[in-house]
Amino acid sequence: MTSPHRATVASAFRIDGVGVHSGMPCAISVEPAESGGIVFAGPRGECPATVEFAIAQESRRRTVIANGAARFEQIEHVMAALAAFAITDARIAQEGPEPPFCGGGSREFCAAIRRAGIRALAARVEPLVVTRPVSFEGNGAAIMAAPGDGLRLTAGIEFEGTFLRGQSATFAVTPETFEAEIAPARTFVLEREIEQLRAMGLGKGADEGNTLVLGAESYRNPALFPDEPSRHKVLDLLGDLALVGRPIVGHVMAWRAGHESHLHFARHLLSEFAH
Ligand SMILES: [Zn+2]
Repeated sequence: MTSPHRATVASAFRIDGVGVHSGMPCAISVEPAESGGIVFAGPRGECPATVEFAIAQESRRRTVIANGAARFEQIEHVMAALAAFAITDARIAQEGPEPPFCGGGSREFCAAIRRAGIRALAARVEPLVVTRPVSFEGNGAAIMAAPGDGLRLTAGIEFEGTFLRGQSATFAVTPETFEAEIAPARTFVLEREIEQLRAMGLGKGADEGNTLVLGAESYRNPALFPDEPSRHKVLDLLGDLALVGRPIVGHVMAWRAGHESHLHFARHLLSEFAH
């Protein structure tokens, strides 16, 4: 059930770590806010975490928001945790180009939100309700949404030339299912792409503990769940859809989708159902 009220964190918290791409020390401080949605703040200014300011960087494996010179990269894992706990308003002060990678999923962000607590605000939230089926197909991906009770997400993946042909995961998104089933799922990478990503200067903070490596025949390091990559896709989908800026009520199903298709679909949902 979606709470009828907007919500923020009950107290501020800070998380320190290392960025997955830059390999640099990074930190975020999440502070309560009374209104204004989720806003990232850094030395070059502020940027609301909404699709209006979003840029998908598929080749660079992340979702970026930018507002003039203010730019925040790889925000999707933090956004997923905030969305799972139905936090609608907060200020996120970021030090460094990206949030800390924190184990490759959203588990540390969830634990920090639990410790900080959640405070309901007086203002009511207006969910975006999917009232009829809508779909999008492009770039080899397909995403559709259908009416449903609460938010349910399905993500399916297929990587040619690997053992992952048609793996999928589905979850009703609640704080409890998110924490137990989705947040632990780590970022993954295809073994055959590692050299190319390194050559692009990416993944400097990635290691075998925070990133699952997909070989042609099997996982190259121990998976936390047999379907860990699909679960991580559910995590990314939730984080990208959070840029709608309102809780979504419906079932969203994504097949072979990445950040670009997620953001395209988030804009599509807004144009179809936001009124
Ligand atoms: Zn991710």
